[in-house]
Amino acid sequence: MSQPAYIAAANLVRIFRSDEVETFALQGLDLSVEHGEMVALVGPSGAGKSTFLNLLSALDRPDAGTLVVGGLDIVAANDRQRAEYRRSSVGFLWQQTTRNLIPGLTARENVALPALLAGIAPAEAYASADELLAAVEMSDHRHRDPLRMSGGQQQRIAIATALGCKPPLLLADEPTGEVDWASAERILALLQRLRRDYALTIVLVTHDVRVAEAADRTIAIRDGRTSSERGADDIETVVVDAAGRLQLPGELRQRVGLGSRATVSAVDGAILVKPWSPGSTGEGSHD
Ligand code: ADP
Ligand code: MG
Repeated sequence: MSQPAYIAAANLVRIFRSDEVETFALQGLDLSVEHGEMVALVGPSGAGKSTFLNLLSALDRPDAGTLVVGGLDIVAANDRQRAEYRRSSVGFLWQQTTRNLIPGLTARENVALPALLAGIAPAEAYASADELLAAVEMSDHRHRDPLRMSGGQQQRIAIATALGCKPPLLLADEPTGEVDWASAERILALLQRLRRDYALTIVLVTHDVRVAEAADRTIAIRDGRTSSERGADDIETVVVDAAGRLQLPGELRQRVGLGSRATVSAVDGAILVKPWSPGSTGEGSHD
């Protein structure tokens, strides 16, 4: 039997309802991530990337679909199991760096806080914080106020804090969004090293192709669905979901004049998708 994926998301649907509008943030998202992988999620603003991270961190629940992480069905899990999962199984790096840090606490106190809140004895929590501060190369700054540090330094403290309870999974929403490229490169190198040293699985959201290229795999999300993937072989593939749905790139659709309907047939071991409009014969060449 092959080992199940560390993260297995199937047909995730998330709808936000306000008085007048319904927003389909996720419309049947399928995605799996292997243990130890570093995956980048890319896609236009509003595609559903943050919504997915919120589901993965068990801060939010989907309206439909399944989400299993490390063998735990986090949709079916009860509140106590979900709280335990949030505490010990997942570290979260918010898009806004300062949201990861508590004002008035030193770097060391920030990093120790998750373990202290989890009921770990102070001596052990601070020893663990010191180890994490060394891992992110911020030992010398441990007594400083992180809110007075540079963006890149703040981010390294935030990463150490996210790993405060040594979770196996790290989620990061635009971890390099607020820093320059030199700092971004250092953060990426750090994430790679932490992944190896702490056997982490990492899912990060990014707008930056350079950041995505540092990941093992890039998964593009569009309109709340997984649309394409690029892996180690560097080949961009379109994702076909369990129902046979796929998303055709807009640029290709434009190039052949594909509107809202198409004919589909098998030709020479391939599937041929041809534009179709009412009144056309479906043969194309007769028009
Ligand atoms: P991304 O992170 O890819 O930019 P999001 O996941 O933040 O996209 O949002 C996906 C869609 O869901 C957007 O249209 C967004 O406005 C909407 N959305 C996200 N969160 C909420 C919410 N809490 N209430 C209402 N709409 C939301
Ligand atoms: Mg977002």
